Amino acid sequence: MPKTVVKFGGSNLKCKEDIGRVVQVVKNYQQPVVIVVSAFYGVTNFLIESLEKARHDEQVAKKTTNYLFNLKKETLELHIQDNDLINSILSEIKTHLDELEKYLHGIALTGDASPALEDHVLAFGERISAVFLNGILENEGIDAKIAFPETIGLITDGEFGSASVDFVKSTNRVREALAGELVYVIPGFYGISPEGKTTLLGRGGSDYSAAAIARCIGAPSLDIWKDVNGFLSADPKIVENPVQIQKLTYNEAAELAYFGAKILHPRTVEPLTDAHIPIRIFNIYGVLDVQNPLSVVSAEKTVTKGIVKSVTYSEDFGILKLKGSGVGAKPGILAKVTSALHLAGINISSVLTSQISINIIIAKKDLSTAYAVVSAIELHVVGKVQITENIAVVAAVGNGISENYGVAARIFTALAKNGINVLMSCSGASPIVSYFLIELNDRIQAVKAIHREFFETNPV
Ligand code: ASP
Ligand code: MG
Repeated sequence: MPKTVVKFGGSNLKCKEDIGRVVQVVKNYQQPVVIVVSAFYGVTNFLIESLEKARHDEQVAKKTTNYLFNLKKETLELHIQDNDLINSILSEIKTHLDELEKYLHGIALTGDASPALEDHVLAFGERISAVFLNGILENEGIDAKIAFPETIGLITDGEFGSASVDFVKSTNRVREALAGELVYVIPGFYGISPEGKTTLLGRGGSDYSAAAIARCIGAPSLDIWKDVNGFLSADPKIVENPVQIQKLTYNEAAELAYFGAKILHPRTVEPLTDAHIPIRIFNIYGVLDVQNPLSVVSAEKTVTKGIVKSVTYSEDFGILKLKGSGVGAKPGILAKVTSALHLAGINISSVLTSQISINIIIAKKDLSTAYAVVSAIELHVVGKVQITENIAVVAAVGNGISENYGVAARIFTALAKNGINVLMSCSGASPIVSYFLIELNDRIQAVKAIHREFFETNPV
């Protein structure tokens, strides 16, 4: 029987008390599992800052590694009585940190870092948390071993910063490497290029690593431990009583993640959909019952009475607008613009056009580059290129949205009743999503209004 893949995030290892819960979960599986772990909470951001500062500050290398060395030392000392074990874990962490320090020094000396070096440096957060967790498990008498992506052969396509796993090259090697009776602890967030270089799988990419490994070994499920109650009808920080969603399809989960739900990385479902491996979501602060997930993402399609299962929002999108009478009728404009954006490495999230304007939705962080790139192209009919930052995208997601009338009407009415103006909207691009753009300041009220309409006034 293949092992279950269990993913713990940085938020599962936040405070000292969390460790006991993680250990309990691993024991509750009663069978050896494969664990994928993220960096400790905040560490990847910290490494990104260190990397930037290291370019012009020699002191950063030492400060960074000192900070990381001491970060969980106290927690180790609190949980482990055996001094020899504590020392051996700390010395293993130190070996990694010495390596990191050399790289940061190199960056300070040259004032520069290649994309390959950046990826290598940023993956240290995960390497360290894997060594830490492995030591904690060993202390509990669990037969655990670290399995680095470079050792098990998790091979990627080699794209630095946002690589994809190459399953043709990885599957057999990973499966063989993770067989047997041991619990394996794998650092998430990176794989190895065919040339043996560290390649990151994108920000928040440990979920995707875990999914890729689950696929390679043919796991019965990918179990993701969070600090919230699974998928909910809306962000619990915004609405008072969100409804828990017990069943979602892979597509519903992917769309919710794409439009801002923080619970899963949008790419998590990719490796699992064809393989029909379910994702089971649990709360580390809840009942640690490994048989009863809070949400299950699988191929099983359910349509709820209210159709909409969840409403989410994202502040990460902005609009690149091309205005001019006739832009909608002139062939070739979009081809030129999208090619230029592609060459600049900018991903297009959506395009909404009309006769007098083309609206390209892209990540907010890419807006100014996109503006510069597009302004430099000869586009005769385009009178004006504009960027709009001050927006939010709100999305309602659920199977059946495109097959049932009235969903969009209810959304628009709920927004109108609350005085919220819709700047743009789109239904049908995905059969399970209705999304719209509003002023950034309206986002919280918009989520509340839609949630009230679908879940509070007419409960499902
Ligand atoms: N530590 C990485 C990040 O913060 C990966 C992850 O947390 O999933 O992006
Ligand atoms: Mg994460």
